[in-house]
Amino acid sequence: MSVELSYTNPFQPEPARIVRQYDLIENHRFLQVRHLDMKKAMSFTYNPGQFMMVSMPGVGEAPFSISSTPSRPGIIEFGIRRVGKVTTVLHQKKDNDTIYVRGPYGDGFALDDMYGKDILIVAGGLGVIPLRSILYYVLDNRDKFGRLFFLYGARTPGEILFRSEFFQLKDREDVECYFTVDKDPTGQWKENVGVVTTLFSKLPKIDPMNVNAVVCGPPVMYRFVIEKFLGLKIPKTQIQMSLERRMHCGVGKCGHCVLDYLYTCLDGPIFTYWDTLHFRELI
Ligand SMILES: Cc1cc2nc3c(=O)[nH]c(=O)nc-3n(C[C@H](O)[C@H](O)[C@H](O)COP(=O)(O)OP(=O)(O)OC[C@H]3O[C@@H](n4cnc5c(N)ncnc54)[C@H](O)[C@@H]3O)c2cc1C
Repeated sequence: MSVELSYTNPFQPEPARIVRQYDLIENHRFLQVRHLDMKKAMSFTYNPGQFMMVSMPGVGEAPFSISSTPSRPGIIEFGIRRVGKVTTVLHQKKDNDTIYVRGPYGDGFALDDMYGKDILIVAGGLGVIPLRSILYYVLDNRDKFGRLFFLYGARTPGEILFRSEFFQLKDREDVECYFTVDKDPTGQWKENVGVVTTLFSKLPKIDPMNVNAVVCGPPVMYRFVIEKFLGLKIPKTQIQMSLERRMHCGVGKCGHCVLDYLYTCLDGPIFTYWDTLHFRELI
């Protein structure tokens, strides 16, 4: 008698072709990829806020947030800052080169809690990469959400990621965009100057019970943005934060990202502010 064993290797990367790539700003590269297997490419889906493991044989593997939206299927987009081994090699890739991806991983944003509500997105620097996914998801499903506010800050005008596509949104009536820079060495910047929290004074009146707020940015930013959210009386469970921790396997096996019983690769990288009050090391 033969016994058939069926086993799916959770670590098996799949080849993906680079469809488009360009420098967003110095050291930050945009990669648009598609699974080589067309069937897989067209059926692949994910939630805004999820991430993937990206690898090259002989180089290594690293987690990156998905920056595209599942409402535009067939492609996956990443924004990658060059910091070391994997990211340097990814920056050298050209159109039609093959890289390897596995995922999506993590739980993404709690969309069910967001439907019907006003959405307040606050991004700082590189933090806009995962938030771009939820921004476009809301824009592509406009009738499922209330008002949409997008606040984005960078250190200088030259460090604004996706600048031209985000500035085009200013012409739309169904999203209110506010941009700021910490300082403007160019003297050409026409938007706000000041840290991202200075943009809150520009927001119209909101009903805090009907808002879901999301934030991602450098660690220092969270405390000040959360203070603003709480000042607006947004409930702690209606504040979602995208948090990065060192992780290796992405599937809850290696234990690198574990905090008590929480696996940030499985249970995160999106957490509510309420969650972080119980796991202070998350931030
Ligand atoms: C869930 C998640 C989502 C992420 N999304 C993005 C994204 O959208 N875009 C992006 O550019 N990066 C993102 N990162 C960070 C990215 O994974 C690291 O920059 C990458 O692993 C570095 O790999 P490397 O081989 O180039 O660097 P290495 O050669 O491993 O290290 C180079 C330097 O970077 C530091 N470093 C390595 N990993 C991290 C890390 N996770 N956090 C902080 N410092 C690190 C090391 O300490 C070292 O100083 C994300 C991380 C996580 C956990």
